[in-house]
Amino acid sequence: MTMQSSVLPPGLHPETYAVREAVARSQYGEHGEALYLTSSFVQDDCESAARRFAKEEPGYTYTRTANPTVDSFERRLAAMEGTECAVATATGMAALLLVALTTLKAGDHVVASQSMFGSTMKLLGTEMARFGVETTFVPQTDVAAWQAAVRPHTRLLFAETPTNPLTDLCDIRALADIAHDAGALLAVDNSFASPVLQRPVEFGADLVVHSGTKLIDGQGRVMAGAVCGTEKLVDGVMGTFLRSGGLNLSPFNAWVVLKGLETLALRVKAESAAALELAGWLEGRHGVARVHYPGLASHPQHQLAMRQQSGMGGTVLAFDVVGKTPGQLRANAFHVVDSTRVCSITANLGDVKTTITHPASTSHGRLTEEQRQAAGVGQGLIRISCGLEHLDDLKADLARGLDTLQ
Ligand SMILES: *Cc1c(COP(=O)(O)O)cnc(C)c1O
Repeated sequence: MTMQSSVLPPGLHPETYAVREAVARSQYGEHGEALYLTSSFVQDDCESAARRFAKEEPGYTYTRTANPTVDSFERRLAAMEGTECAVATATGMAALLLVALTTLKAGDHVVASQSMFGSTMKLLGTEMARFGVETTFVPQTDVAAWQAAVRPHTRLLFAETPTNPLTDLCDIRALADIAHDAGALLAVDNSFASPVLQRPVEFGADLVVHSGTKLIDGQGRVMAGAVCGTEKLVDGVMGTFLRSGGLNLSPFNAWVVLKGLETLALRVKAESAAALELAGWLEGRHGVARVHYPGLASHPQHQLAMRQQSGMGGTVLAFDVVGKTPGQLRANAFHVVDSTRVCSITANLGDVKTTITHPASTSHGRLTEEQRQAAGVGQGLIRISCGLEHLDDLKADLARGLDTLQ
């Protein structure tokens, strides 16, 4: 919850807000934003404490209710997304839970993509189902299927674009129109693109959700999340729930991601440029069957990506290695991943260190072979989240395994 109005003039560019938007400096005039690592705030006297608790005057009382460092992060992210406000949460999943618990009630219906982040599918499909909320999962890229799934009680369309690991896109404008015609909201998980590449509200989305753990931190340090949107819905409804529900981001983690936002544009642009070059280098190379990257002309939604993602493909790419049987595909993919010496074999992404994973045995490991086939995640698939290492070192790292494939 924001306590102060901005000290900046209005109408500045996102790049300027990324390094400047924050609460006012303290009486010490610190240049780097202060980290208010405190659980409560001391009041001058009983009368002013009473007024603050009654919200008759602005002022901090208790960090679960509001904290200046958390406020700074929320304001900076909202300015970058072009939304009225944002609320910060402990993790990306806490942000998704907050959206679900504040926009849905028993009897409501959700339409979501069948290739969303695994925990999001579990949250909507399993956990929320226990509270009488039903979700229909549809193919990510099939706009007609989203439309056909809408029912009289549909309250929320939930999209994630581009997806992990296959980089399939949603047409945000088309989904916003479907949602609004049905009297529903469109929420977009923007963790993979970040506001640097894609500002979903410009295409009609009502809510923007983030895992700040990924690109916003960008250096693999902390977990964080956020929801961005209107004052009424995000600060009003969601902020009120968050303050009672305790889904808060800690001030320390808020400070880390606040500083992460300052370099977000530089990192995302450099990592996207690296991903594009690596994807082009992989395409047609010995041992590679197919490359999935929205920045390549071979991607089925290349045109949409260029329109919706500021002309860039993003920082994540995936590719299938060659092989005939599932067993051979898996062995070949393991060989390529295990032959790397620079890339990290780890599930995180959006880090300045390049990460490499085998989705079929990790993030998508608990799916049945049929579900995996439906999601297009075969045993030969490898996902790469590009970091900032020298490209020649990354190419050599991948060539080591690819060149020695049987
Ligand atoms: C990681 C991720 C999440 C969940 O975020 P956490 O910070 O891990 O809770 C949600 N959506 C997407 C697209 C993600 O990549």
